Formats: sequence, structure tokens, C-alpha cells
Amino acid sequence: MNGRHPPKSDENPIVREDLRTGLTAEAIKNDILENLVYVQARIPKIATRNDWYMALAYTVRDRLLERWGMAIESLQQSSRAVCYLSAEFLPGPHLGNAILNLGMYEQTKEATARLGLDLDALISHEGEPGLGNGELGRLAACFLDSLATLEIPTIGYGIRYEFGIFDQEIHDGWQREVTDKWLAFGNPWEIVRPEIAYYVPLGGYTETYYDRLGRFRVRWVPERVVKGIAHDTPIPGYHVENVALLRLWKSEACESFDFQAFNEGDYYGAVEDKVASETISKVLYPNDEPIPGKELRLSQQFFFVSCSLQDMIRVHRLGGGVPATFDRRYAVQLNDTHPAIAVAELMRLLVDKQRIDWERAWEITRNTFSYTNHTLLPEALEKWPLPLFRKVLPRHLEIIFEINRRFLEDVRLTYPGDSERLRRLSLIEEADDRYVRMANLAAVGSHAINGVAALHTDLLKETVMRDFYELYPERFLNVTNGVSPRRWMLLCNPGMSGLITDAVGENWVCNSQDSIAGLESFADDGAFREAWRKVKQGNKMELARHISERTGIVVNPESLFDIQVKRIHEYKRQHLNALHIISLYIRLKRTPSLDVPPRTVIFGGKAAPGYARAKLIIKFINSIADVVNIDPDVADRLKVVFFPDFNVKNGQLIYPAADLSEQISTAGKEASGTGNMKFSLNGALTIGTLDGANVEIREAVGPENFLVFGLTAREVTDLKMRGYRPWESYEQNEELREIIDLVRSGFFSRGDRDLFEPLVNELLSRDEYCLLADYPSYLEAQEKAGKAYLVQGQWLRMSILNVARMGGFSSDRSIREYLDHIWKVDSLKASGSRGNGRP
Ligand SMILES: *Cc1c(COP(=O)(O)O)cnc(C)c1O
Repeated sequence: MNGRHPPKSDENPIVREDLRTGLTAEAIKNDILENLVYVQARIPKIATRNDWYMALAYTVRDRLLERWGMAIESLQQSSRAVCYLSAEFLPGPHLGNAILNLGMYEQTKEATARLGLDLDALISHEGEPGLGNGELGRLAACFLDSLATLEIPTIGYGIRYEFGIFDQEIHDGWQREVTDKWLAFGNPWEIVRPEIAYYVPLGGYTETYYDRLGRFRVRWVPERVVKGIAHDTPIPGYHVENVALLRLWKSEACESFDFQAFNEGDYYGAVEDKVASETISKVLYPNDEPIPGKELRLSQQFFFVSCSLQDMIRVHRLGGGVPATFDRRYAVQLNDTHPAIAVAELMRLLVDKQRIDWERAWEITRNTFSYTNHTLLPEALEKWPLPLFRKVLPRHLEIIFEINRRFLEDVRLTYPGDSERLRRLSLIEEADDRYVRMANLAAVGSHAINGVAALHTDLLKETVMRDFYELYPERFLNVTNGVSPRRWMLLCNPGMSGLITDAVGENWVCNSQDSIAGLESFADDGAFREAWRKVKQGNKMELARHISERTGIVVNPESLFDIQVKRIHEYKRQHLNALHIISLYIRLKRTPSLDVPPRTVIFGGKAAPGYARAKLIIKFINSIADVVNIDPDVADRLKVVFFPDFNVKNGQLIYPAADLSEQISTAGKEASGTGNMKFSLNGALTIGTLDGANVEIREAVGPENFLVFGLTAREVTDLKMRGYRPWESYEQNEELREIIDLVRSGFFSRGDRDLFEPLVNELLSRDEYCLLADYPSYLEAQEKAGKAYLVQGQWLRMSILNVARMGGFSSDRSIREYLDHIWKVDSLKASGSRGNGRP
């Protein structure tokens, strides 16, 4: 090609710029206007910001849809695709991310400017689909981002909840839950596919019969049938043509179904059934609340799993596949046990519907599924009361009994006479009441089982999954979680991203581990440090502005921003952080000359609506804030903020503004954490326990750049074995005693001595999460953090080194591990099944 670029039209028969979906500022501007008039039905003169937002969103979506067609085609042509089954997806606002990934930010900024609009204001106008509680759903979203970017044919399957996670308001220091209205103004990102719909049976009974060939068969006669309708959202990869497909199911009543066949002419009964049908995808269940007994929740799980598997079979058929090769076509990941019923459902579809014999069907099933465990908390392991399970899924219970019978037969051969082990491994818990154990079902029906951080996987093998590990050691592996460097750096921290790109080039966005390490050599560069400081300072000022808007609290952006944002839970120990605040407050009052930096302690997070103690922790934090924030003695030195409604959008503002990241869960309780990664990636230092992925983060960034404290997981276990007596800590530690006595005196509750008694009582009598045991070492680490912050140059150095060494925590790395060790799926790039991005 003798060094000259060929004219564009030679390379691409169709020139992008000529299309409606062109990427020039002018083409974008024209499309915005067109969408405003013809989709949003508004003229510019009276258009509101929401109208403009919608018009812009449709404009970006048009460009996604162009890639969409290709993605669908490659899905059908690819030899193997990843299906990620998850009851939760927490993608965050789409607009900014899509503009970034499509590489059209500059042109869009220009286009909106020509229309007299502010692009950034339109981007921040967008709310978010809160279709998840926290970590688990957020992980699923980061994984889709990485799968799309790595050009893997991917479908994420889940539920289109009409009401996602509640919005949190704070009134008089208490959490108030407000219904999430994410669909109120329509959702420009989804495409409804009424033609992609499946029937999902529920309830009823089973009967046996002999088919025409004289074979024994079982037929499920359901009590009712609901219809699941596909709602599709394209998830763009970064600077590639590929998009992943997020397919969420909405439940509806099925008009066409003959209710009379099983309703015996009971018209009103049938109408009631219809109402019940639509309820299934109505609302997301909050976690940290007891679930057993919630029939709707089980129906939800089965509903989305059944639709998804039926959809996979249909797509497989379209590509000419037969059910017997299902496992070669799909790698299906179960994100926790919520979709574990898929094991029994695929067996039902293969055996009852496709008439494949049991042994072969079981082989297909096991080859298809793999299971990610997300928790070690015994109370969070899903199990369903047998009568309830039978009522909702009578056929599946039979199938599970049969899986269990065959499974236990094998176990008996491996461990003759070990009835205790048999009892523990059984898919059915036989206590006073009987339960179906979903983790056991997932483990038996999967060829791979993974934990989400090295420590978590080790503990999994030693504790909750020990018997399975001994039985199937080859199935277990670890895949440490990761976060998308697109959303959690490039999008949310443009200033720091710019510095990194200037320093090491732009490869770090997709190939973090190797590229971003180049930043290390800048850690001692004075000018670079200064630029780094300025960026962090700017991020802190931006957060300070929002804090003042949202809470009225004015904070000093020069102070140390000490941040803990995550779900509120006793094991995450927000109240340990609160105890430190009280100690700092008392010390500052007593010793005004204390040589510590000014500190702003910021909290954020939702408590499950039924988790009273977590809600009391929110009140506790706000009550401390009420006292501290108006005390002139500590005016410029200590502030406490509870930032309401922590979600992805607020997270994008908060993580980049942190100096200190609080990752202080009781060791052995947090499976991985991903908040810890987002903070560190954005240049915060971590104060943390050796829990979850903290362990690996500390190894990666170097122990000298990480503030560790507290008991290890083993020490916690040992302490409990020996008999932990928390009141001894109280009696032995004078400062701790003073703090707790102050709380009990009603000092933070306007004289009310009873308000926080449930919290204090738990700490003194049981202290399940070992706050008092860890208190002295936590305080020591906090002192160390304060001292370190006073030496700004050193602090900046540690901050830069944190970022430079966090490349391994990209979700791209996690996904590559799943691909190599579990899914065995090739990238579209590698398989060469498609040209390189030609339209
Ligand atoms: C990252 C994230 C989480 C998980 O935070 P952890 O600190 O790992 O518990 C929860 N919620 C949102 C909105 C997040 O972005």
C-alpha cells in the first residue's frame, strides 16, 4: 500500500459519515433533532432537559443498534457463547458509558454545543436501573462490559424488575425507603421484543403416562402459566464493534393460553391468575433479609431461568443445532444460587420435552453449567422449604429427588458407611423441616465451582463446601473479582485517566496489567505528583459540592477524605468506623494541639428494609454527625457525612474523591469486595482487614502502601473457639470504655439512653463481628493513616503506586480466567468468524 492510506470509501463500501448513524458532530446533531421531533415528539422550543436527554439517548442508541445487528449475527454464527445468568444486574447510567465506549465524546460534545446544550448536564440527568442490591449485580455489569470489550459472544440473562432497589432518603437520621421509579419516563435503552416470548408453567401437579412408543413419561400439569417477554439492552464494548446483549424478562399474563383447561370455567380465578402473573417481575428483593417462605421469590428465579434456557434452545436451533449439542454451544454461568434451579430446568427440558435419556441429559447439563459462590455467611445460603417448593415446582422436585438419588448412590460407593457425610451432601436437608439446598444443587450440576477471591475460595473449600471439595476437588477454582477500568476510571475519573494516558499511553484501558505498571516510574516525579494532587483535589471539590447540595454540610476539601460506601451490614462494621470517629472527637476536644490532619469521614449505603440493626447503624452515624458537625471546638478538623442513596451514579462521584478507603469487614466474612478495588484504582489508600480481595490488593500494591489491621480469619475462628468475651476488651481498654459509656449516656441521642442500646448490648454481650477485639489495632492503623497523610509527598507516592499496581483487578483479567479455565469460549477476533469491524 506504499505507505499511503487508501481513501476511506475504498476500505468501507459504505461511508459511515453518510449514514444516519454517522459519527461526525453534524450527523449527531441532526439525529438528535430528528429523535427529538419524531421519537420524543417535541419541538426544540419547548423541549425540557429530559426531552433533550431522551433525544440524545436515542441518538446514541441508534449507533449501538448498528453494531447490534452484527452482534446478533455473530452470536448465531459463533461456535460457543457465554450466557451469564444473574438475578441482578447493576449497570449504572448508560449514556456516558456508551458515548465513551463508542469513542464519540468529543463529537457529541460539539453536537450538543451547537444545539446550545451542555453534554455533561445531559449525562448527569440520567438515573440508573437499580436492578441489583450491590456487589453481585455490579459484578455482573462489569463482566458484561469486559465480555463485550473482549469481543466474546455474550448474553446476560436476568429479570426486568419494574421496581428496582429502593431509593434511600434520610429523615431525622433514619433511612426512609422510596419506591424506585426508573421506568417513569420510559427507558430509551431497551428494545421490547414481544415476538421473543416464552411460556413458563407454575404450580399444579404431575402425572405419568406411556407415550406412543410405550416409554414411561411424566407430564407436568401446571396450575397456571405466565409469559416472559424479552427486553433487550445493548452493552457496548470499548472501542470495538461488538456489543453484548443484556436480555431481561418481564412477566405478563398469557392471553392465548387456555385457562379453562385447568380452571374449570372459573373466569375470575383466571383473572386473578393474570394479576399474579404480572407480579412476578414486579420488584427486586432486598438481600440481608430472610427469604425462605417467599413463594414469589422462588417463582421469580424459576421464571427467568426457564425463559433464558428456552431462549438458548431456540437460538441454538436457529443456528441449526440440536438439543443434544447444547453444551457445546453454551457456557452458562450461575451467578450465585439464585439461578441454580436451571440445573433441574434444563434436565426437565431435555428429558421431558426433548426426550433425551437421563444419563445423556445429565452429561449435557453438567457440561453446560458452572457456579460462582458469593457468600460464606451460613444464613445467606439459599434453601427452600420442601412443601413450598413442591407447590410451585412439583416436577422439579421430582427431578431433584432423582438427581439426589443417583448422586447419593455414588457418594455411598465413595464413602461406604459414612451416613453423616451423606446427610451433609444431600440436596435435601432433613431436619425437623425439610428443605431443598440450592448450593448443593448448583454444585452437583456444575463442572466448575469458583469463589471470588483467593481467601474466599480457600475458606469455601474448608467450610461451607468442604464435603463437595473432598468429593470433586477438580471442580474447584478461584477467580478473583475485578472491576471495569472503563466505568471505574476512564468514565468516573477523567482527570486521573488523562494523567495515566499521558504517562503510559492509552493501552491501560483495555490491557491494564502490563500498561498501567509503567506509572510506577512516575511515583517519585515531583511534577507528576503535583499534577496528581491537583486532580485528586478537583475530585474532592466536586464531591464536596454535591455533599453540600445533598446534605447541607460544608466540608473542607483539603481535609483527609476517609470514605466507607457499601451496603450497611454488621459484618462490614460501619459502626467500628463510627467508634473511631468518637475516639477522634474526644481526643480533639481534650487535646486541641493534637497533630492530626483535618478529616472528613463519609459514609454511604443502603440497609435492607427489614434489617433493623443496620438501620440503627445509619441513625447512629447521623447522630454522631449531628453532634460533631456543629461543635466549634472541632470545626475545621472533623466532619461526618452520611451521603444518601449510594448507587452506581453516586459511586462514580465518590470513589475518585477518596484519600482513604475503609475495607474493615470481620476477616472471613466478605467474599471479595469490589468497592475496595474501585477505591484503590482511583488512588485511595486502603485501611483494611485481611479479608476478601483485600489480601490480594495488599500483596499487589505492597504492604507498605496499605494499612492493615485486625484479626485474621483464622484468628477470628480461634478466638470464638476459645470463647470470646467482648466485655473484657471493654473493661481493659480505657478509651473504649469511655466511648461506649458516652454512647450509653445518651450523649449522641439527646439524652435518650435506650436508642442505641441494641447496638451497644450486642457489642458487649456477644459481638458476633469482633469489633471490640479489633478496636485497638484499628485505632493504631487510623493513627498511622493520619500521620502518613501529613507527609503529602509520601502520601502521593503511595497513591500513585496503588494505581500503578492495580492493573490485575480489571474485570478483563477475571473474564480471561473464566474463558481459559471454565468457559472455553473464543473471542470473535481470534476465531476470525467476522471481518474486522466493517459495516
Ligand atoms: C461497587 C459497588 C458495591 C460493592 O461495594 P463493596 O464495598 O465491595 O461492598 C455496592 N454497591 C454499588 C453501587 C457499587 O458500585
